[in-house]
Amino acid sequence: MTAEIIAVGTELLLGDILNTNAQYLSRELADLGITVLHQHVIGDNAGRLAQLVEEAKSRSDLLVFSGGLGPTADDLTKETVAACYGDTLRFDAEEMEKIEDFYRRTGRKMPENNRKQAMVPVKGRKIPNHHGTAPGVWFEDEGGRCAVLMPGPPHELKAMWREGVRPLLAERTGGTLHSITLHVIGGESTLEAKGGKLFANENPTAAIYAKTGECHIRITARAKDVETAEVMCHQYAENFYALYGDAVYDEDVPGLEYTVVRLLAQKGWTAATAESCTGGLVAERMTRVPGSSGVFRFGFVTYANEAKEKLLGVSHEVLEAKGAVSPEVAAQMALGALKNGEADVAVALTGIAGPDGGTEEKPVGLVWVGAATKDGVWVKKLTLGSRDRESIRQRASQYALDLVRRLTAGLPLRHARALTAEEALAGDAALWAGPAPEGED
Ligand code: ATP
Ligand code: MG
Repeated sequence: MTAEIIAVGTELLLGDILNTNAQYLSRELADLGITVLHQHVIGDNAGRLAQLVEEAKSRSDLLVFSGGLGPTADDLTKETVAACYGDTLRFDAEEMEKIEDFYRRTGRKMPENNRKQAMVPVKGRKIPNHHGTAPGVWFEDEGGRCAVLMPGPPHELKAMWREGVRPLLAERTGGTLHSITLHVIGGESTLEAKGGKLFANENPTAAIYAKTGECHIRITARAKDVETAEVMCHQYAENFYALYGDAVYDEDVPGLEYTVVRLLAQKGWTAATAESCTGGLVAERMTRVPGSSGVFRFGFVTYANEAKEKLLGVSHEVLEAKGAVSPEVAAQMALGALKNGEADVAVALTGIAGPDGGTEEKPVGLVWVGAATKDGVWVKKLTLGSRDRESIRQRASQYALDLVRRLTAGLPLRHARALTAEEALAGDAALWAGPAPEGED
């Protein structure tokens, strides 16, 4: 099946809003195995719209519309598309009742032109809108070509798609679909290159999406029932586990902090943080997770050198000799947080988030991450390059959480150097001879 997406709205053409609905719909259609041939954006103009619909309809089986169902633009989009599909509109008393009820419940007076929203196809069907007033509509011509119109506000469009449109299309394309998302630490290009043919499979399909400091791999299977599709997804996921190993940190979670909190709780461990360049971001991410009070002990935000000395016991001499952004200081911050935060695992960050403050020796994007448990101290160097400040902070927080994950789960630490607490506290330059471990991006 082939499809085209048509986003209606002058606001989109003027650049006032970003066409996020098109991105969402493209991804969803791809997931259903429907090939999207074009995305269009068009203003509120009946003549041009009719011309575009005729053109697109001659090429593609399905046209998916976003926007233009509101009371103002209503007569234009719905009626124009109806005519192109040999349909007309009728007033629907039941929809009218729902719209009036919506206004009553929200304590507002219904403007007269809202009656237009209660117009539904004579031959086609209406699609319920549980999150707004305008129902969606579905047209189908004699040759089986279809058009579906959904409201512009993204939360209404997504809900209607999930509840009313996607099931209809899944039925037509055969069987049901199920997806799982693998979360993987690492950059998109490396993971994609490594994955090779795994991303070219037909059923299940696998697609990779780059996020900050990680990638998502969405696996979607089509089968006669959900249970079978689910099993297919998990079987296919095994390929990625075999390939990427422990870089895959979880499935279907909101973020790495959720996995870290779960692992800490499972192990019965508590955690503390000591942050300089991330200003509390790691602590913020961990405490985002419901139930984190059971595992999170203390978050130190030590920006100034005096704070590192006073709150974490970092040695004055080491700070003077090595500077705040150094492996010695990262290690000592982690040890201080472990002790003063009375935790089982501590993580520390010190780095240069920019845009200013970089030098040739210590450029913007250089971050040292330290971690400590009763068994030792680890330091890891990150070279996050000349990204913007926010991006450097986000990525650094991601690597810090990954270090906590690895220590808690007993996984190997990649590119991190292990020291004894005595070595770390000594801050001895000889310790750091040899090439520094590079943080991979
Ligand atoms: P309404 O009843 O709210 O008027 P509508 O179906 O007429 O809905 P529009 O008027 O086109 O939709 O858009 C309403 C709002 O929805 C816009 O102001 C914008 O915030 C959002 N929106 C519309 N189209 C898109 C799009 N393609 N991508 C993201 N957001 C959109
Ligand atoms: Mg509108």
